[in-house]
Amino acid sequence: MIGIFGGTFDPVHLGHLRTALDVFEALGLEELRLVPLGKAVHRAPPRFSAELRLEMLEAAVANQPGFVVDRREIDSDEPSYTVHTLESLRRELGDEVPLCLLLGRDAFAAFHTWREPERILRLAHLVVMERPGEALYLETPLEALVEGRITAMREELVRAPAGRILFQPVTQLDISATDIRARLDAGRSVRWLVPEAVLPLLETRR
Ligand code: ATP
Repeated sequence: MIGIFGGTFDPVHLGHLRTALDVFEALGLEELRLVPLGKAVHRAPPRFSAELRLEMLEAAVANQPGFVVDRREIDSDEPSYTVHTLESLRRELGDEVPLCLLLGRDAFAAFHTWREPERILRLAHLVVMERPGEALYLETPLEALVEGRITAMREELVRAPAGRILFQPVTQLDISATDIRARLDAGRSVRWLVPEAVLPLLETRR
């Protein structure tokens, strides 16, 4: 079973990494692919360049076995839609291997607004990471998508390549890239919010 964790990673922080590691261990994933966003569709362009976000991510996970940085969105000229990223991964990995798309609760709350959510659920399972400070309220279209798919059992994810939704409790770290960028703007330290290996990259290239 392979995990896919997409994000802007602008910059990568310990909230991303610790929670991804929690899921990696809890679900016994063989591999976790971190996919930095290429061309933003739903949000303002990132502060840091694609190459720097990639470099920071690579430095961050260099010592973590099983964690792989996947540059397919950054290398593509197309706008980054998760459904296309998953189709591209399926072409590489085949139809059989279970794929788990990791996303935070905030991202999940808007899942029905993504491009082709039903198709995403035919391509991957969803693993929703509980993020601090967010109550789960499912809007009706999301409720309809989720209907009959929720499971608490890892085995159900292993048995099918896609289509289930699992809520995974993770270490609660109230860290966001927005807050990190604000601290950098104010000339404050971001030590112990981002991996130590990322600090020099932020210092020299901001
Ligand atoms: P920004 O503040 O710029 O919006 P972010 O910190 O939310 O960024 P993203 O790269 O946009 O980071 O997030 C990628 C994914 O990681 C999303 O699914 C998001 O919900 C999840 N995530 C980010 N920070 C945390 C955290 N502290 N705990 C759990 N999940 C997180």
